[in-house]
Amino acid sequence: MTTPCIICVAITGSLPTKADNPAVPTTVTEQIESTHAAFEAGASIVHAHVRNDDETPSSDPDRFALLKEGVERHCPGMIVQLSTGGRSGAGKTRGGMLPLKPDMASLSVGSNNFPTRVYENPPDLVAWLASEMIAHDIKPEVEAFDLSHIFRAAAMHKAGEIVDTPYVQFVMGVKNAMPVDREVFDFYIHTVKRLFGPDAPWCAAGIGPNQIVLNEWAISSGGHARTGLEDNIRLDRDTLAPSNAALVKRAVALCDKYDRPVATWQQARDLLGLRKVAA
Ligand SMILES: [Zn+2]
Repeated sequence: MTTPCIICVAITGSLPTKADNPAVPTTVTEQIESTHAAFEAGASIVHAHVRNDDETPSSDPDRFALLKEGVERHCPGMIVQLSTGGRSGAGKTRGGMLPLKPDMASLSVGSNNFPTRVYENPPDLVAWLASEMIAHDIKPEVEAFDLSHIFRAAAMHKAGEIVDTPYVQFVMGVKNAMPVDREVFDFYIHTVKRLFGPDAPWCAAGIGPNQIVLNEWAISSGGHARTGLEDNIRLDRDTLAPSNAALVKRAVALCDKYDRPVATWQQARDLLGLRKVAA
């Protein structure tokens, strides 16, 4: 049987505001509602950041706690993945929410450039975040902004700093980092299979208009797909996306096109080796 496709919805991120697209959920209440609609549309993972009242990025564990609680209540079974990405804070504040024990957390394992700055992930901070994830039984999703990050994940796995087979996400199309390049994409897949085995799951995310490009490449190549307003606020050049759910529906349509069943949350938990939960 064809492997079901896990759809991850990245609902908010650190950057887009309501001025960019009024559909970006920035309060916890809006985030829970937006996640619920995306869950009903087919998403089985929610990737989340939180914001301050003025929409600036936050790492506040209390806000993360409210969001996690709300998603677990309204979307039973959905996989909660909290971001430890660097825009919201410096140093260990990035991992301040890990004691909440979400199912997953994002983990960047190396540094690279972002559009206007350096995305700093120094080795000691990466090691600390990884050790916190082990301590709290959280599965990391390794964010690969570069080929070297996949090799770093393999080294961490070998050293016991990442327990399970690393689940790697290829991020393409961030300005000044890895562009959207089909040959690199195929080599990323080849490298994941070589380092982690032919059945190792992987996923991909594209930024802006490349979101749909990476969705199509991943879905047609047996990978899993990330969508959502964090990475892209438009349906096309002239049309703002009306919701996270609308972007999820685009990914679901691609799954239909390539005969990939959309993973239920139970299937997603099995594929990723996550802990079972009662619905
Ligand atoms: Zn994020």
